[in-house]
Amino acid sequence: MAIRVTVWNEYLHEVEKESIAAIYPKGIHTAIADGIRNYGEFETRTATLAEPEHGLTDEVLENTDVLIWWGHKGHARVEDAIVDRVHQRVLAGMGLIVLHSGHFSKIFKKLMGTTCNLKWREQGDKERIWVVDPAHPIAEGIGAYFELEHEEMYGERFDIPAPDELVFISWFTGGEVFRSGCTYHRGRGKIFYFRPGHETYPTYHNDNVLRVIANATRWAGQPQGALPVFGKTAALEPIPGK
Ligand code: ZN
Repeated sequence: MAIRVTVWNEYLHEVEKESIAAIYPKGIHTAIADGIRNYGEFETRTATLAEPEHGLTDEVLENTDVLIWWGHKGHARVEDAIVDRVHQRVLAGMGLIVLHSGHFSKIFKKLMGTTCNLKWREQGDKERIWVVDPAHPIAEGIGAYFELEHEEMYGERFDIPAPDELVFISWFTGGEVFRSGCTYHRGRGKIFYFRPGHETYPTYHNDNVLRVIANATRWAGQPQGALPVFGKTAALEPIPGK
């Protein structure tokens, strides 16, 4: 069965700046939603900041297996009540893929519990993304590494908790390195942070980038076991003497 994916984008840069609209005429969200369908069976929809409830109603989230998140300048404008709603859905089992500047989104910081701060530079460094866990399903179909000719640099230290699994490490022309593909489990939810995707570069048209996002969507949207039951519990069998 197709994995139901909602691609969320603040959708501000593309509307406000012509040079960015030229790269993503229908927005980063549409580029990703259309692009990943070349790499798997996904039923995609999109949602943006300006929509009522940011497009993330209870109904949308209930029907979302994996939420993909791109945000940058609009983090503070995302309502706390919606962040709480997404947080609850992640803990209940919805997958979450946080891209690039989403490292500073309210939802990612809430799930990580750290500042999620990092070093950055916008000077068109080349990025070389190394696969450090070739057995991981998120690395499927990716060679030993792939390159993006120009990207914004993100460098260590990246203030995140130690990832459950580290799939990619990036190297940049200027000399920095970065943990650019990190997995986490929170409750029943699986989370993947993936670094590339600065809005002034055509990164979400890159085949390797789209393949990684598709792989991660499949990984995070896998079928799961029964919902856990918490709290006071009746014995399954008689307890002698009671
Ligand atoms: Zn950026």
